[in-house]
Amino acid sequence: MKKKVVVIGGGIGGMGVATTLAGRGFDVTVVNKDHYYVTGPSRPLLLTGEQRLERMTRGYEEMGKQGIKVITGNVYKVDPANRKVYVAETYMGSTREFTYDYLVVAPGVVYDGSKINGYDKFWWNVTNVYDLGRLSVLKEKLWSLNSGNVVVYAPKAPYRCAPAPTETAMLIHTILVNRGVRDKFNITFIDANDKTQPPFIADIVSKTFEQAKIQLVTNQEIAEIGEKEVVTRSGERHKFDLLAMLEPNRAPSFISEAGLGENFADVRSPQDLRNPKYDDILAVGDAAKLPFPKNQEIAFESSLFAANKIMEMEGLSEKISVQYAFVGWAYLGNLEGKLDTLSLQFSLDLTSSPPKPGKDPQPKREYTTQKDNWEQAYLARLFGYKV
Ligand SMILES: Cc1cc2nc3c(=O)[nH]c(=O)nc-3n(C[C@H](O)[C@H](O)[C@H](O)COP(=O)(O)OP(=O)(O)OC[C@H]3O[C@@H](n4cnc5c(N)ncnc54)[C@H](O)[C@@H]3O)c2cc1C
Repeated sequence: MKKKVVVIGGGIGGMGVATTLAGRGFDVTVVNKDHYYVTGPSRPLLLTGEQRLERMTRGYEEMGKQGIKVITGNVYKVDPANRKVYVAETYMGSTREFTYDYLVVAPGVVYDGSKINGYDKFWWNVTNVYDLGRLSVLKEKLWSLNSGNVVVYAPKAPYRCAPAPTETAMLIHTILVNRGVRDKFNITFIDANDKTQPPFIADIVSKTFEQAKIQLVTNQEIAEIGEKEVVTRSGERHKFDLLAMLEPNRAPSFISEAGLGENFADVRSPQDLRNPKYDDILAVGDAAKLPFPKNQEIAFESSLFAANKIMEMEGLSEKISVQYAFVGWAYLGNLEGKLDTLSLQFSLDLTSSPPKPGKDPQPKREYTTQKDNWEQAYLARLFGYKV
């Protein structure tokens, strides 16, 4: 009988495992919260109108045709001792239980502001490019406000997509210049880290911030949020009319409740993604506790390492070729306010010790196109069609 693999999360990591194992004799079921997936990397360009939601959204139907079962529902509990996964509100019933031979945990991250004082009262001040609803609010404000203080915030690493907060600041600058109101705004970028992330492009980002007159504040973690200001752990106060803030990231709480890890899901090593306590539970992508940045390439590469491990445990001799390394692109907006975003290209080779960074210090328009091609290629590979 085919071995049953249940994958929690039909995103980059989850679909990486599912598409790899489904063609190799496994019975694969993916459980995903929604009927669709919306890719992350180009979300910031929704602000400027350079990207459209329909190009970023994919359904699971094509992969269903290829034999992967996809169940829409919210996993709220895992019981490792009895190999059970509990799912709420599926369209096949209000709750369901699944048993598995292998469980792959790939639900990505949640954004958790609960440790910030005042968050429970003033959460509605938070906008960002991570969540589509908040992005929509941010966009509406950027295109309608005529003056004020804008605060953009990056929490302590690790968080999902290192450059997205600085991308947000530069795209905010671009839109305000485009509207001819930039001189009526102050933009402050507060970073909880000692440098903007990823650190190996921090020099170029800070130079671009200087040109854009964005004030950069590092080493300041936001500890409190009020109606009109944030306060950092060391007592700095920053007033805002518009706040674009990412909360600290962690894996969804069913992972810690099942004893699979605290903030993120524990793994034995980046190459052996099994939980230290359970041979049959593996974690991939942003939810996994990996010593690497949390991004799409790492999520996909970890999914191939996980698939390899499952195949090895089943005695299959095939091994997918994979290593940890990535190319990334950071949007730098457009200093002159044209809605024609330039990007930096950078890379990190994690196979060498210490990891070897690379970058082209010159922002280019063609890098924005490259990022789009790269994102579309992933979507075609994992969801089976192009838009
Ligand atoms: C704004 C933004 C910009 C980004 N920019 C870049 C970039 O430029 N380059 C780059 O490489 N990466 C970028 N990323 C990061 C990249 O998108 C993630 O690292 C990658 O998607 C992680 O893959 P994952 O499988 O771990 O999580 P995801 O792709 O997020 O997939 C997780 C899936 O699990 C589902 N899920 C969550 N909880 C449950 C549950 N309890 N039950 C069922 N389903 C659940 C979710 O709905 C989702 O479909 C960006 C992300 C964002 C949001």
